[in-house]
Amino acid sequence: MTWSRLFNDPVGFFSEALMKRGVRLIFYAALTAALFPSSRFILLIALVVTLAIMWTADYQRNGSFKVCYLAAVLGILVVGYSAATIDVWRVDELRIPSSPWGNGISRVEDGTYTGEGQGFRGPIAVQVEVRNHRIIGIKTLEYPDLISVQDNELAAFKREVLEKGKLEKPLQPQMFRGATQTLTGYANAVESALSKGIPQFPQYSVFSTVFLNAFLGKTPDRVTLNALAILFAAFMVFEYTLQSMLVPGTGRSINCYNCASCVGACPIKEVEGVQMPMGLVLLTRLGDYDRVMELSKYCVGCGRCAAKCPIGNSGPLVISAAFQASRKQKREMLLNEKRETA
Ligand code: SF4
Ligand code: SF4
Repeated sequence: MTWSRLFNDPVGFFSEALMKRGVRLIFYAALTAALFPSSRFILLIALVVTLAIMWTADYQRNGSFKVCYLAAVLGILVVGYSAATIDVWRVDELRIPSSPWGNGISRVEDGTYTGEGQGFRGPIAVQVEVRNHRIIGIKTLEYPDLISVQDNELAAFKREVLEKGKLEKPLQPQMFRGATQTLTGYANAVESALSKGIPQFPQYSVFSTVFLNAFLGKTPDRVTLNALAILFAAFMVFEYTLQSMLVPGTGRSINCYNCASCVGACPIKEVEGVQMPMGLVLLTRLGDYDRVMELSKYCVGCGRCAAKCPIGNSGPLVISAAFQASRKQKREMLLNEKRETA
């Protein structure tokens, strides 16, 4: 697969790329990160750790420098994160004297503003109306915490804000699960809306806003767990249940219960840190056909593993599948190169 094909034949480029498990995993992760910003930080860490393990092994095996590029990207991320954190800290300090809390409402101009805060189960959004430096209306736009906080707590807080016409720290709520976080998130949403009505309210730089949002998203919360569960389910369904349909020819050899019955029967048992032939099955499932071919010389073809495996795998079967898949890959690469030069 060559990059110039991306421009000449984008459909072919993407369908071919999606045949690779690593590319599909990155696709699922990117989709999850786009839909659930709170999962971005965890996914980023998982991606970096996975690539670091894979590319360090590549470096030890064939001197590939991909791990150095990863280190460079990590360095850029650390520098970017430090710069963004310093900017956020500096702006937060500048915001203290301009805060809309309490009598700071006198700085807020008339108008209707929207704001967001982080609740117990996700973001809370409100719309606040200000007239003559008093809060005269609060409308709740988004409120996923309904099931964790009794509504009367929130209604009492809103009533108090409207009676006073200004925002003051909510009192400690009763001991409902998540109530403190919800009320704090609600008050922060009102604060964020009011701050939009203050002229020259200090703002974070575009760089730190975009950087933190793109790479870290929001603070991980319960939605994060749901997002990661969806990612895991999608991965399991598409990669393991439908694998033989997605990649014709890999079928039976791609399944394995990791029961190690084959390892017990194999006279070789383990070579170069790989258990035989169970490790070959795993490597084939991961698409590392070159490694399977390297290790194939150790298999003496006795067939003892085939007699033990509950699903009929054997060293020779897996090795032959890896050879076929590798040959297919190379043929496609050659065809693409020919297409490029034609
Ligand atoms: S066929 Fe190969 S992998 Fe299977 S038991 Fe014999 S030597 Fe081991
Ligand atoms: S016996 Fe079959 S299912 Fe069990 S680990 Fe070996 S290849 Fe996998």
